[in-house]
Amino acid sequence: MAQGAPRSANGKDSMAVKEDNRAGAASGGGKAITDHQVEDAFRTIIKWIGEDPNRDGLIETPDRMVRAYREYFAGYEEDPEEVLRKTFSEVDGYDEMIVLRGVTFESHCEHHIAPIIGRVWIGYIPNKRVVGISKLARVVEIFSKRLQIQERLTAQIANTVDEVLKPSGVAVVVKAAHHCMIDRGVRKRGADLVTSRMLGVFREQPETRHEFLTLVNADTTE
Ligand SMILES: [Zn+2]
Repeated sequence: MAQGAPRSANGKDSMAVKEDNRAGAASGGGKAITDHQVEDAFRTIIKWIGEDPNRDGLIETPDRMVRAYREYFAGYEEDPEEVLRKTFSEVDGYDEMIVLRGVTFESHCEHHIAPIIGRVWIGYIPNKRVVGISKLARVVEIFSKRLQIQERLTAQIANTVDEVLKPSGVAVVVKAAHHCMIDRGVRKRGADLVTSRMLGVFREQPETRHEFLTLVNADTTE
């Protein structure tokens, strides 16, 4: 499991990847492009693979794809920092590890727009601020409903929790299967990619990191 570079270098990296992901949203926008144009594009793809987009089974497909894509990429519409900022509460004294275990997600890789299906573990040790578990799950949801690479998804979740809750530490592990590897290319079935981001005490204290990783591994070997 990669421990990565020192904290300062990390901060820089994570800002770079975050900008990268949002710049796509800002410059692509999508606002000026009509649903009709996107349907035409999907119709072209259907023709290109050798199908007849006008046959009964496919006539509604471009319209369905537009609606499906809107769901797949709904994460560009929302700000995950806002989700956490609105709802955190000050809880004096509680300074034990809080762990959200194995929350499922579906994302799409930015290289093939193929599904990435996996689970996320988020641990943090609060420093006055805690947030509802469902809000952490929302953060996972928002970042996963964008074009992603797993490394950036992992970093974005950790950095957002770190920036908004300012905990003593945050740890994120993501385990996922990439359909672009399963269905095509090297065709590796059953292979998982594991990525992690450790900040604060999870980076500095091996025993804290170990406690978290023991929970993660207990979940995935059962
Ligand atoms: Zn891919």
